[in-house]
Amino acid sequence: MKDAKNLERLVCNHNILLLEALRLLNLNEKGILIVVDDERRLVGTATDGDIRRAFISKQSFEMKISDVMNANPVFADHLLPVEEIIKMTETTKGLPKISIIPLVSNGKVVDYYEYMPRFHAPIASPVLDGNELKYLFECVQTNWISSQGRFVVDFEEQFGKIHNNCNAVSTMNGTVALHLALVALGIGPNDEVIVPSLTFAATINAVLYTGARPVIVDIDRDSWCISPNEIEKHITLKTKAIIPVHLYGQACDMDSIMNIARKYKLYIVEDCAEALGAKFNNQFVGTFGDVGCFSFFGNKIITTGEGGMCISQDKSLTTRMKKLRDHGMLRDGRLYYHDEIGFNYRMTNMQAAIGLAQLEKLDVIQLKRDQIQQAYADALMEFKALIPQRNFENRKKVCWLVAYLIDNKINDVSSLISQLKEKGVDLRPFFFPLDKMEIYKKFAPAPCPNSEFISEHGFNFPTSLALSEHDLNAIFDRIKDVLYVWQGASAIPPDLAHPSSILIQTSPN
Ligand SMILES: *Cc1c(COP(=O)(O)O)cnc(C)c1O
Repeated sequence: MKDAKNLERLVCNHNILLLEALRLLNLNEKGILIVVDDERRLVGTATDGDIRRAFISKQSFEMKISDVMNANPVFADHLLPVEEIIKMTETTKGLPKISIIPLVSNGKVVDYYEYMPRFHAPIASPVLDGNELKYLFECVQTNWISSQGRFVVDFEEQFGKIHNNCNAVSTMNGTVALHLALVALGIGPNDEVIVPSLTFAATINAVLYTGARPVIVDIDRDSWCISPNEIEKHITLKTKAIIPVHLYGQACDMDSIMNIARKYKLYIVEDCAEALGAKFNNQFVGTFGDVGCFSFFGNKIITTGEGGMCISQDKSLTTRMKKLRDHGMLRDGRLYYHDEIGFNYRMTNMQAAIGLAQLEKLDVIQLKRDQIQQAYADALMEFKALIPQRNFENRKKVCWLVAYLIDNKINDVSSLISQLKEKGVDLRPFFFPLDKMEIYKKFAPAPCPNSEFISEHGFNFPTSLALSEHDLNAIFDRIKDVLYVWQGASAIPPDLAHPSSILIQTSPN
């Protein structure tokens, strides 16, 4: 059922005067009042149209709501299946004739059904409203559609420039960026590479491609990122590298991680796939370690469709990554001469064209993401069970996907996701912990309780840049509808709580 507050905004006593009725209508913003007698029995409904017509014909507000209401309103028993209730809204031309139906139990109003039009808020979608099309057009017009051309050069140059003038090597996607970095650093069979348990599988897969052994360690409960303590516990003589993942736009504790790297002489490959623009101590992620790897998949901070990037301060490492990216071919004058097995991991000029256009708008994109995140924070502040991703004083978080934990004893993330899916709002669960998956669990030397906890309680709200303020408000309304029920459910003693069937009836769309 809707929360009691919502219901009470719609219900009024049959004796109130029209002016009071107008005041209530103005507050509930639904355009309708459910009129009840002193015993709370349904006696009618009144719309703002009913009141307007009554006023025009009588020229007076000295009337009771019962004088102007519709005394034969459409209503339904609160136990009627929702499909039957929907039929009663008499949808015509895609619009419902009646959008609110009182639900009664033994004649008394206990709830209402509200028809909500079909709505869909995807979890993430890019906005391509800058020079994307213009640059793509140039690729086609000039015939430079493969992996050579000005956009590859420009995109790499600009990307490196904003990252402390690093050298940048573009790739086909973020996964191969990680693989390329590891291979260029000489990681291979008999080496160990430490990865966090809570991350996308691409992180660990890239290690496995090299033949090295991944070592899965736990995250910190507050940052959701790899725990420096856990890293240090699992360093062995074979450990060669660490892949800190800046998860959901949060920078890892790079002070501690770089100290460990120096102490044990380990390589650092930063997985920045979700964190372009995030900072630790005012320094961009990706510029701490030996290589920083980025992804430009469709749902990432900026996109090239598919795409990735490696950045590094080390000139010779960059040269090596460029060689390996291009079949390992030597560039010493001899044509088609290879002295090692490389890959074809090149980005196309078309991808880079889109990437360059996206990069030109990076500030706007980041601002919009921050605004979306803030709008969620403002709208959902009253729900204490929702815990937003934490902000640290010395870290600048970027908003990849708006991320929350939910701490509610009655309901879990999966029921939140399924209830909101019915209302057209796409939520995403967090990543499944690597150490809990059959194919990876042998690489976890110890349990990862923090990963498990965060994974179980975490989820992402829709963060599509295309969402308008109106869309966001529609999303918030739907989220609140679900959360009010949950709050109500936890507050009301079981014997007084409404039958659970009502919960289902109020969330059909
Ligand atoms: C998206 C992502 C990747 C992989 O990037 P692709 O471009 O999809 O290959 C790697 N690591 C993390 C943490 C990611 O979120």
